[in-house]
Amino acid sequence: MKVMLSKIVNKIPGLRSLKYRIFFIILAVGIVPTMFLRYAILQNYEQRAISVRISDVQAQFKILADHLITYNYLSDTSSEVVNAELAMLAELYDGRVIIIDRNCKIIKDTYAISEGKTIISEEVILGMRGQTFANYDADNRYIEVITPIVDPKASEEPEEEPEEGERPPENLAQGVMLISVSTDNIATNVDILQSQATTLQVLAMVILIVIAWALARVLVKPFERVTTAIRETKEGYNTEAISVMDYVETEHIITAFNELLGRMRVLDESRQEFVSNVSHELKTPITSMKVLADSLIAQEDVPVELYQEFMVDIADEIERENKIINDLLALVKLDKTSADMNIENINLNELIELILKRLRPIAKQRSIDVLYESAREVYAEVDEVKLTLALSNFVENAIKYNNEYGYVKVSLDADHQYATIVVEDNGIGIPEEEQEHVFERFYRVDKSHSREIGGTGLGLAIARNAILMHRGAIRIDSEEGAGTQITVRIPLIFVSK
Ligand code: ADP
Repeated sequence: MKVMLSKIVNKIPGLRSLKYRIFFIILAVGIVPTMFLRYAILQNYEQRAISVRISDVQAQFKILADHLITYNYLSDTSSEVVNAELAMLAELYDGRVIIIDRNCKIIKDTYAISEGKTIISEEVILGMRGQTFANYDADNRYIEVITPIVDPKASEEPEEEPEEGERPPENLAQGVMLISVSTDNIATNVDILQSQATTLQVLAMVILIVIAWALARVLVKPFERVTTAIRETKEGYNTEAISVMDYVETEHIITAFNELLGRMRVLDESRQEFVSNVSHELKTPITSMKVLADSLIAQEDVPVELYQEFMVDIADEIERENKIINDLLALVKLDKTSADMNIENINLNELIELILKRLRPIAKQRSIDVLYESAREVYAEVDEVKLTLALSNFVENAIKYNNEYGYVKVSLDADHQYATIVVEDNGIGIPEEEQEHVFERFYRVDKSHSREIGGTGLGLAIARNAILMHRGAIRIDSEEGAGTQITVRIPLIFVSK
């Protein structure tokens, strides 16, 4: 129901605007009740006027009925007093009075049309039985009142007690008065009231439209200010954080926008820093090569040994350049979304063993022990290539930043939700203040040492991205001079966002 309503509302072009919605809501809230009120008041007025008229007529004609008895009008219609009273009442109520005797014969008609005729209708019969009642004919605009003409004495002292079970006397009344009263003046009053109400309503509507429009504009203004402020920021006129604090809602939008802006600035700064770092890192080997080549060119009769020595250096620099480019490409690949993940259910024990097998020869060169400890067999939904890349980097670092005869210990465990891999070494460790930075791109604790051992500063950044793509987490615990422990936790079931 709600969905359907919002679908319909959204289809009407104007109603998609908050301004128009506020306008129409205020208008509806103002107008609909006044319309109901107007209808109710007029209806009530008409009903009340009719019922007052009916009781008025009934009271007047009750008195007349008494006079009819007093003057014995039913037997003799010549009484001037009664006739004058009749004429006056007929005139007063703009109506017609018909007096019917006990035999249902019309003895008097103020219109003088039906005198002498006999009238038998349901109303007359009921009237004869002493009932008073009234009908309102709204279409023809008149009230019909039936008033019985009852002799008070006759009704007070019945001639004989009706016997048990016997029906009461048929006719209580001596006769019946049929009165038709025009309600034209009530209708006229209603018409006048109606036209006044219409005028008032039109006036109220005009005022309401003006107020609703003004209010809608004022209420929507802060949102327009938000749009302007955001647009100015987008177009570069404004570089500061913006502020439109009129409503809690606009404040929320602005806060969210400023946060986004801040994030974008940080991203932009880090991008710039990255680009400058990349160019610097790529330039270093090239500069070295240029220096080596230049010195060879500058010398005459260079001995072959020197040529060879310099060429070996140049080849090293080329290899380094190649490594940086490869790492950069790996990093760029890992910046993509999880849609690029090639997820398979992999035995992590086998995966780790393979990594260690590949890296053991390097460790052996420096007599570093590589140990592996697995608590259980662990299967996890992972991207084999990416996870291998990450774990290789951790183990490689543990070997690279280790002392001769040191050790590297890798352990694997899992609970029902996560696999936990710990890479531990007793190497040189990382000073505490540096620990939070080591995952940044190109960050190296000891630049020259890292360079010496062939580091690019990208290894941990790559590893971190790869773990985050698995919705995993990394923890680093390290003590300078004592060793480092990297704990990786990844979910056993891969959840793509
Ligand atoms: P690099 O290519 O220089 O190894 P990484 O991103 O892999 O770059 O690591 C960043 C820096 O963190 C390294 O230069 C090193 O100083 C430090 N580091 C990483 N792992 C270890 C470790 N196991 N022990 C000591 N220092 C480490």
